[in-house]
Amino acid sequence: MLPFVGVATFLRARYCPLSEAWQADVGFLGVPFDLAIGYRPGARFAPQAVRQASLRYALPPEGYYHPRDGWRLKGVQVIDAGDVDIPTPDYEQAFERITASARALRARVRLPLFVGGDHSVSYPLLRAYDDVPDLHVVQLDAHLDFSDERDGTRYSNSSPFRRAVEALPNLQHITTIGLRGVRFDAEAVQTARARGHTLLFREQLEGLDLATVLPQGKSVYLSIDVDALEPALMPATSSPEPDGLSFRETAQIIALVAQRNTLVGADLVELTPQLDPSGNSALIAVRLLIEVMMSALSR
Ligand code: MN
Ligand code: MN
Repeated sequence: MLPFVGVATFLRARYCPLSEAWQADVGFLGVPFDLAIGYRPGARFAPQAVRQASLRYALPPEGYYHPRDGWRLKGVQVIDAGDVDIPTPDYEQAFERITASARALRARVRLPLFVGGDHSVSYPLLRAYDDVPDLHVVQLDAHLDFSDERDGTRYSNSSPFRRAVEALPNLQHITTIGLRGVRFDAEAVQTARARGHTLLFREQLEGLDLATVLPQGKSVYLSIDVDALEPALMPATSSPEPDGLSFRETAQIIALVAQRNTLVGADLVELTPQLDPSGNSALIAVRLLIEVMMSALSR
């Protein structure tokens, strides 16, 4: 079936709501919440845009054929579990529903894939991982998102990981990769460093052997803020910063993280599809999700 035909689900997977009982390898859940964004809104439209773009990469049962690697993701069963039903504008109730839906998805699949939404959703998503001992987070992001508050609010897309370490005693460590820009929150940087977090700035990545600094043998939750990527490549994001990661660098980091650890879940956030009328940003977001699946499941 051609990519412009039919009803859009993630990779043309079967749609099964979380109200039903089922099991699969990978589950896709949309989290269309963007009330916590500090700049250009619209990430609520990302799950639908990702589904639409993903038809270009519909996954057949025999997998994707690659001339060097053979069949990839062969027999991997993917389910599109729909979206969290977001009760705009009540963020507390939205977060409750996000956590409950994430728990329900975790119970059904080996690899949950969550598509936001703005980055604030990583906090309620991580609350669904309060039972994972020695949990590690790897965050790809131009921004630290570890602020205690922003303009008097504590649950914005600048604070998800601060709230997560407060709420989850099992969350041991956070590695943030791709940091850059001019507006850093000094208190957030100091607190993250005092906790022993690994902060990797864009300019540090040149010539750095990431294998020596990334977690290994851990249970890792991977959080991909698409503004980690170069904005010329990924213009569809609320708060772009120049000098971002290339697609290949990003894919290599994903592979390194997913192959050497147990990936317990991944989110992709801050995609604001209408800021890129070409649609390329959504296609790249889909490719990143496929890289996550291939790295985590083809071992
Ligand atoms: Mn972020
Ligand atoms: Mn960011």
